[in-house]
Amino acid sequence: MKSPEAEVYRDSISTVTQDGKRAWIFPKKPSGRYYNWRKVVSYFLLTVLFISPFIKINGNQFIMINVLERRFNIFGQPFWPQDFHLVVISMLIGVLFVVFFTVAYGRIFCGWICPQTIFMEMVFRRIEYWIEGDRGKQIRLKKAPWNAEKIKKRVIKWVVFFIISFLIANVFLAYLIGSDQLLKYVIDGPKYHLSTFISLLIFTAVFYFVFAWFREQVCVIACPYGRLQGVLLDNKSIVVAYDYKRGEKEKGRAKFKKSENREASGKGDCIDCAQCVHVCPTGIDIRNGTQLECVNCTACIDACDSMMENVGLPKGLIRYASEENIEKKTKFEFTPRLKGYSVVLGVLIAVLVGMLFLRNDIEARILRLPGQLYEHKEGSNISNVFTYKLVNKTTQNIEDVSFKLLSHDGFIKVVNDEVNVPAQELAEGTLFIEIDSNLLKEEKDKVEIGIYSGSHLIETTTTTFLGPRSFN
Ligand code: SF4
Ligand code: SF4
Repeated sequence: MKSPEAEVYRDSISTVTQDGKRAWIFPKKPSGRYYNWRKVVSYFLLTVLFISPFIKINGNQFIMINVLERRFNIFGQPFWPQDFHLVVISMLIGVLFVVFFTVAYGRIFCGWICPQTIFMEMVFRRIEYWIEGDRGKQIRLKKAPWNAEKIKKRVIKWVVFFIISFLIANVFLAYLIGSDQLLKYVIDGPKYHLSTFISLLIFTAVFYFVFAWFREQVCVIACPYGRLQGVLLDNKSIVVAYDYKRGEKEKGRAKFKKSENREASGKGDCIDCAQCVHVCPTGIDIRNGTQLECVNCTACIDACDSMMENVGLPKGLIRYASEENIEKKTKFEFTPRLKGYSVVLGVLIAVLVGMLFLRNDIEARILRLPGQLYEHKEGSNISNVFTYKLVNKTTQNIEDVSFKLLSHDGFIKVVNDEVNVPAQELAEGTLFIEIDSNLLKEEKDKVEIGIYSGSHLIETTTTTFLGPRSFN
């Protein structure tokens, strides 16, 4: 366990100065094998994010989250408010997934998948490097007076940032209101849809604020997932970690000297070059240990590997490892614990996918009309009145709908004879069920009803049929 003095760095955050002002971070441009892989993953995910609202499957937008009209599409499958239970179950599975994933694999999500990191590090930061140059040039530009050069670079950067924020806001809107609607608004022009345009500008301003100014503070201060790390990680979780055993050895870290025999000197392998600190987008020193601010972006791994290569020491002084791996000097291995968690994660994903795709295309609900008892009909027949609601979740019209009793002999009469359910619409109405009371077993009997389109059974449902108290 570290001494309280050694833990002092945890009392403050790297992005705020002692007097409470913002400490602006100027991370060095990363390079290396992890950065290259992250670029590939990021640009793939960005492509998916930008084209998803414009892809259609069977006429349905690939992904749409239209909260206002309560229309949701996931992987081209339309979901209705009636499917809300799926949303609740998905959210519960999602929470479990996040917990299991983080316990086993740490913050891999933050570094590789989180849209905040991807947009910040792979879009806005790279544009910044392109316009203002690397860390040193950015620091000099910040300190420079507002001369023509500084004004030119800053204005170009702000304009480009604004345009990208506006694009992101448009894509965001395409998810919310649907891409068809968005394209229609674009063709009509903003003056015909002023309220939507104002919302678009507000979204743009939020994205601009986050990526141009708030930046890494999202991960360091605001993100609830980041704040949960303290309770989710343990010493077996895989994180980006500094191998302090190797880095410090008996005499601690020290600058590299070409002439000395480092191995024999007792000095650690860390040559105290601070490259891992300079490259860190959240401004921390990973050599202090695992910290909440670390988004596992791997930039420090690449930076340190490159230094190790330069001085002829083995790579991996900073690497993916657990605290336990470092403490016990063991290599990363796919332990039974990781296997177990991975199986649980796989099962959770399979359950979720199964639930999403195995749900019925049509949903039927038949309920007895409130306040109505039963009615005696010819002979010993009993009649109950019901309301029905049919939801068509498909993109095809469902025509010539009829209802048949499956569990009892008897018949169903629909008040309006012809029932059709248009694509992605619902139909509702009233129907009567008539059953011979001699066939009823209880006062409240469960009856099963088949819903047919022509002669094709498309759904079955049950309801309660009310009869006289005693049966002979
Ligand atoms: S410590 Fe390393 S992995 Fe963590 S945020 Fe900084 S550079 Fe990225
Ligand atoms: S980059 Fe590696 S060698 Fe340089 S200070 Fe960081 S841990 Fe030490």
